[in-house]
Amino acid sequence: MNEKQNQEQQMYFEKDIKEEILEICLQIFPYPQPYPVQIECMKNIINSLTEKQNLLFQSPTGTGKTLVTICSALAYAEKNPNVQVLVLTRTNEQINGFIKEIRKINKYPKINRYSILAGRGQFCLNLDDFKKYFEKQGIQKSKFNKHLTQQCNDRCKKTKCESHQSLSAPDMSIFSGSKCVNITQRVFLEKKEQQGCQCCPHFQIYKKMIKKRKKQNLKSDLHFPLVSQDYNQPFTLPDIEDMKNLFEQQDLGCPFYFNKLATRSAKLVFSTYNYIIKQNILGNIKELFEGEVIVIFDEAHNLPEQAEQEQSIKMQQKYWDSLDSTLKQVQKVFNKGNLSNQNINNLYRNVHNIICKDIEEEASYFKLSLQNKIKDGESTDTESDKSDSQINQNEDNEDNDDVEKPLPKFKHVKYTKQVSQEDQKQSKKKFYQYIQFSSQDLYDKINAIIFYNGQQPENSDENIKKIQKYVFDVKQNKNYTFPEMEEIFEIYQELRRKEVFDFFSNFQSHFLSIKEDCESLQYLFDEKNQKEIKPFCSLFSDKDIVQKFELLNVNDIKQAQSFIDKLTKVFTMLQYLKKVIKVFTEQQKNDSKSKNDAQNHIFVVENNQFYEANPDDLNNLKKFGEQLKLKYIQKIWFFFYRLIKLRKMYNYNEDPIYLQNHYISLLRGEYSPVPILQIGCLSASYLFKKIYKKISISSLILTSGTLEPFELIQKSLALQFQTYSSPHIINSETNLFTQFISYYNDQEISFSMKKLENEDDKNNIFYQSQLAINFITDKFNEYTNQVKQKGGIVIFFKSYSMLQQYSNLIKSTQGNGFYYFVETRDANEFKDRYSFYKQLIQQNKSNCIFLAVNRGKLSEGIDLKDDLCRVVILFGVPYPCLTDPYIVCKRTHAQLYLKESQWYKKETVKIVNQSAGRCIRYKDDWGCIFFLDSQYYSEKNIYQHISKWILEGQKTKMKQNYEWTQNYSQFLQNKATEFNQKDYF
Ligand code: SF4
Repeated sequence: MNEKQNQEQQMYFEKDIKEEILEICLQIFPYPQPYPVQIECMKNIINSLTEKQNLLFQSPTGTGKTLVTICSALAYAEKNPNVQVLVLTRTNEQINGFIKEIRKINKYPKINRYSILAGRGQFCLNLDDFKKYFEKQGIQKSKFNKHLTQQCNDRCKKTKCESHQSLSAPDMSIFSGSKCVNITQRVFLEKKEQQGCQCCPHFQIYKKMIKKRKKQNLKSDLHFPLVSQDYNQPFTLPDIEDMKNLFEQQDLGCPFYFNKLATRSAKLVFSTYNYIIKQNILGNIKELFEGEVIVIFDEAHNLPEQAEQEQSIKMQQKYWDSLDSTLKQVQKVFNKGNLSNQNINNLYRNVHNIICKDIEEEASYFKLSLQNKIKDGESTDTESDKSDSQINQNEDNEDNDDVEKPLPKFKHVKYTKQVSQEDQKQSKKKFYQYIQFSSQDLYDKINAIIFYNGQQPENSDENIKKIQKYVFDVKQNKNYTFPEMEEIFEIYQELRRKEVFDFFSNFQSHFLSIKEDCESLQYLFDEKNQKEIKPFCSLFSDKDIVQKFELLNVNDIKQAQSFIDKLTKVFTMLQYLKKVIKVFTEQQKNDSKSKNDAQNHIFVVENNQFYEANPDDLNNLKKFGEQLKLKYIQKIWFFFYRLIKLRKMYNYNEDPIYLQNHYISLLRGEYSPVPILQIGCLSASYLFKKIYKKISISSLILTSGTLEPFELIQKSLALQFQTYSSPHIINSETNLFTQFISYYNDQEISFSMKKLENEDDKNNIFYQSQLAINFITDKFNEYTNQVKQKGGIVIFFKSYSMLQQYSNLIKSTQGNGFYYFVETRDANEFKDRYSFYKQLIQQNKSNCIFLAVNRGKLSEGIDLKDDLCRVVILFGVPYPCLTDPYIVCKRTHAQLYLKESQWYKKETVKIVNQSAGRCIRYKDDWGCIFFLDSQYYSEKNIYQHISKWILEGQKTKMKQNYEWTQNYSQFLQNKATEFNQKDYF
């Protein structure tokens, strides 16, 4: 067979498979007769999936794109058993909405193999108790999630709780669909809780369930319970709320942990964007997906910006404040005077024991892994055998905003169990990764110590050679002899001890020098320097500021590196200090004999002299330990670490104005009077590279009603995509009225900077636009009077400042009985206003006008269907703000792939399409869209990229003013007649 024949055969084969998948998709699809546009969508999605291509799938709201996408992906996964489907939404509420849709797919037999990845804030069964406790403690609401993680970890660590030893694991049958009620267990749990047990009973049950599964060798096919509201009716998929109720009422353990476990065998997984794009959570995702994954991002039009933001780091004033107060506090304690010998010994012993224990643990794990490897090629490192404490450790960052932390680690977990045969392959892979890391780490540490002290340890050459040989041997997979290894471990431990003690013995000097550096850096945040800092906002374009930055030891890589080294050392020491205080105070509390001797103190060794700290009592000491805010030090450390890395990457030695894919800026705005120093990211590709390393993605599908211009997304993510744009299923002729208003009363309406420069022109433009708006709202009022049904109009301004400038004027000149609402930046306030707006319309009390902002809260994520929004007016063109450092740099960055002006205009159109699309939400919805600014039409790059379905709603040629007013009146008249006829029949 020649090559051509081969290709032809391949094409037939692929065509067959695609048809088969389409057939499955049509069977799964919950409605008997999909619209032709929906079938076209399915074909395009299936095409991309079978070719393992990514897809940008644009389809207007109301076309059923989510259902079509999920059905196509599930059909593909049905034919490919190793494929999982991960659907990502922006909010947890949207997950519940999707599940309602998916519930309709009752023909799909394996749909119960699904999971929801959501945080403890959604799933924790102790949430109410925790909330009460946090409120009592005066913890801010915004910090609840962080504290929740902490509380959960604390409770789960109490694994040896005797009170719960006799709890039973849930019946496995529940996980394949049958009903299970465990009343006895519930009574038992409550009784034990009353007895004051502090550990989490739900975690205990979860643990037992894992053990039971392991015993039965059940590795996969963890089926989810299919439930109905009263658990007696035919089963259906639980959403987050159902799941919580089910687990609680039937004592099935913790739904948070269960869902994570279920993800590995799930066919369909729901989660929010956070799980994929938040760096601290991304770290854990690798463990959750084993095969290939189809990743679907819903409403993905802002995905690149969100991904870029996640890659940006902000360093805030509060970090400095916290570092400053921590350093002061430590200094105060250390300056108290000399310690007694007995106290020195006590404390020294404590520190010594803790450090040695850590080092031994680290080395023993290292040794154990190697022994197993040498013996029979088995590793002990498997996911399923992880100890409970490690399970908890992995969750540590789940709900908080900690940064990624490449800080030195002293704490390792012991792995002692052997791996089953089936895990061998995976384990070996992990083992090699770990060995490589450890040997490199070991080698680096030794080198660092040699150079740090300026002198070589005894026999260092020989030791280094041994280690090099060891690293080489491991890589070559050769045989080893034990004595050699023993010797190496001894050296390793010795060197590590030396390194850690060295930190401690030079604590004071490190401490003081870091304090000096921090004080100079604080300059950036000092109110007095505002004037000088201002040019800093223009991205270091001012030479003076650049020089100051250089003086601050950050611009020079070598000096900055030394700053980081110092900060790292202080951080490490404080970590130990914190640990010592914790162990020490707990010991003191438990040991009644030493109670009188409680004035034991913190020590510091400096030039062979011991200095004491003398906090008033044990509680003070404990409090001091708790108050050491290491997280902020870590954040500062990470900021500079990244800065140096970037500087090295781009090899810049001159002003750090713009670092190709990053920028540095000082943010200071109306709502953030304290400046924030940030390293901003300009390319979402960084995050996506990380995601691709963590999960094996077969196809990435981005869906939204407004993804165009496609180029922008493709370039920003640096990925290849197929593209498909589905037409709208509404009838533009009868259900949409689109009008570009460039002139009113023969006067041009343009909000361009140039036109607004002249005060008279400005007043006239505003006056004419006001008349146009009056006409639109008056006619709408007439319509609502005819149909006796109230409705809403949304006016989108290009910015908050424009909204403030014009909102009062618009309100004061309107006397036609509309109720006005103005969008606020405050989320809670906005929520209240929006629900009142909705209430007035839905209860038929008043027509309403919502004055909102493009890119604001009303412009996306809120379903303004039917009467909630019959008219949208775009007031001015929402060009991005040119004083925003992100926009300035993004524009420069975009020149790598687009002409500068193109990016700017395409970015604008994206926002325009998003806001304009608010008023048509499904097939039978109807509405009117007005573009109030001549620039919409005169700027070709804008007009031609406005969504096709919106342009199809035009009924009037551009300039003829009175023609559109007549057509608009006629359109509303038709709608009123239609409504009243429907009502009549
Ligand atoms: S294990 Fe589950 S139920 Fe228990 S505290 Fe943690 S999240 Fe809450």
